[in-house]
Amino acid sequence: DRAAAFSAAVLAASPDAIVVDELISGRSVYASRMAAEIVGETAGVTDVALASAGAQPEDQHRLAEALAAVGDLSDGQVLQVRYRSRDAESGHRWLSRRITPFRRDEDGRPVEILSVVRDVSDIVAAEETLTHAALHDPLTGLPNRTLLSDRLTGALFRARRHQQEVAVLFCDLDGFKRVNDSTGHAAGDAVLVETARRLRDCLRSLDTVARVGGDEFVVIVEPLDHGDTVPMPTARQLGESVARRIVATVGKPVVVGETSQSITVSVGLAFAGGAGDAEMTAEDVLRDADAAMYRAKSRGGDRFEVCDPGLQSDLTERGRVASLLRHAIASSSDGVDSPGMSTAPPRGRATCAGALDVAYQPIYDADTGRLAGFEALARLSDSGGTPVPPDVFINVAEEIGLIRPLGMQVLKQACGALARWRSTLPDADHLTMAINLSARQAHHPDLVDEVLAALAEEHLPPDKIVLELTESVLIQAGPSTVKTFQTLHDAGVGIHIDDFGTGYSSLRYLVEFPVTAVKIDRSFTAGLPDDPTSLSIVRAVAGLARDLNLGCTVEGIETVEQQSSLPDGVLLQGYLLGRPGPASSAEQTILAHQTAK
Ligand code: C2E
Ligand code: CA
Ligand code: CA
Repeated sequence: DRAAAFSAAVLAASPDAIVVDELISGRSVYASRMAAEIVGETAGVTDVALASAGAQPEDQHRLAEALAAVGDLSDGQVLQVRYRSRDAESGHRWLSRRITPFRRDEDGRPVEILSVVRDVSDIVAAEETLTHAALHDPLTGLPNRTLLSDRLTGALFRARRHQQEVAVLFCDLDGFKRVNDSTGHAAGDAVLVETARRLRDCLRSLDTVARVGGDEFVVIVEPLDHGDTVPMPTARQLGESVARRIVATVGKPVVVGETSQSITVSVGLAFAGGAGDAEMTAEDVLRDADAAMYRAKSRGGDRFEVCDPGLQSDLTERGRVASLLRHAIASSSDGVDSPGMSTAPPRGRATCAGALDVAYQPIYDADTGRLAGFEALARLSDSGGTPVPPDVFINVAEEIGLIRPLGMQVLKQACGALARWRSTLPDADHLTMAINLSARQAHHPDLVDEVLAALAEEHLPPDKIVLELTESVLIQAGPSTVKTFQTLHDAGVGIHIDDFGTGYSSLRYLVEFPVTAVKIDRSFTAGLPDDPTSLSIVRAVAGLARDLNLGCTVEGIETVEQQSSLPDGVLLQGYLLGRPGPASSAEQTILAHQTAK
């Protein structure tokens, strides 16, 4: 009849498989056209045990549970189960099966059930992609912070149950900012991808490594009991050996295109889940590991440190540096650094105050051996006089928005020092002072006024001041920044490109930007005299600078061999010729230079 023909047509046309199974025997009494394809069931085929109809072993229990629950359904109620079925081609496919009672016996118990089965492999794949994207870092493919917290929470749970600690390692690359700033993001990305690969290589497959920030990675190491008779290493032993391996492996140079990037890593280790710390959350462990990492960083990086109770109760190192900086900058803006002051660094009144000071490193003319000037380098020390590495506090100052006041203080102090030397020491008139500018300062609209005011205050000729910028500043420079530097350049201020030579697109800026000199990155100097690539780059850049009528400084000269392999016409800077020192030693350098001639 028409009704039967209609439903037959609908069933035949449906992209879903429609199957009626006898519950007790598991025999299919009806199967639509698509059933053979989707479920592999055909009507009348006996001994298709329903509970395992095509389902993969690991999913059979789901199907079995669903079928057991069908008995409780009233008519029209539907139960849904998703499982994988074996598929000759792709291994498995995902099926979604909606089940409802179809025919009941006198007692009302279902004897036949109807299933609508749909192939949802595409949907599951899309879902997996989405979940993966939500839980992984797209660049390295590693788990992200969300997945990390999940895994860490699970690891802490297991740790407590087995009374066996887990180790958490917080890894932060040293000098990554420098790679990114001087070589650009593509090279930075390549370094991160390579670092991720190396971290994986340092671990067993069951360990987790996640990327939780720009150049920050977290590793979870769980000592797992294999039931071996040999004593199992503790989390501490495992953690330390993994940390050691990471520092050694990640610290090897990374080759990116033509250049080799020297990258090291600071690792902080923390443990949790032992008998003592039932309360520790994933957040707590991460904070401890992070604090230990900062300690590793402040001890020079390229090492690991273990979180200890002292560190836990301490402020994190970052917090400590931030408060040192706040104190140092607050106490200096009280007018302590006014012109004519002694060379003593401004000291805060509070005993916990950090002191911000400037060190001066001499720069020489290679051809004449003459002292050409100094680079001003910011120095921060705590109340005990222990210095904080510039790479650490410059970063913190940038993070907490203090880099501009810090830079201003360096600028004023350095201008004051140069003015004093010019008026009190012989043969100091030609000396220049180089000041480092971070991006935030360079892009600020007040920069011109601030620099010119600092010069005017000390009655310094503008051409005795040099501003050092990294290529990243130039890369990000919009028209207003170009204008800023054009104005400064027109006033006579020198503009040098710091860390030059590692950028693949660096040459463009020499033409488009008002640059007066380039400063060849010290990673090239480090390769001299034996590495032919470094040598040819140094020579090419020096030659290019000469052709473009630009100055050229080679920094990081540590050995006589390095110095003697340099081309003519460059300025020299490095430990071999003079380390950065306080104003008093800069004065001595100027005087010694006088008598030496
Ligand atoms: P930079 O501008 O490349 O400064 C040169 C760095 O090389 C200084 O490190 C200096 O001490 C070091 N150096 C000099 N000669 C040698 C050598 O022969 N061998 C080696 N290995 N290193 C040498 P420092 O003082 O630790 O400063 C690190 C970075 O911190 C600077 O790199 C600069 O980017 C930043 N910085 C320092 N002072 C300031 C500042 O006042 N403002 C800003 N924005 N950044 C600053
Ligand atoms: Ca510099
Ligand atoms: Ca430099």
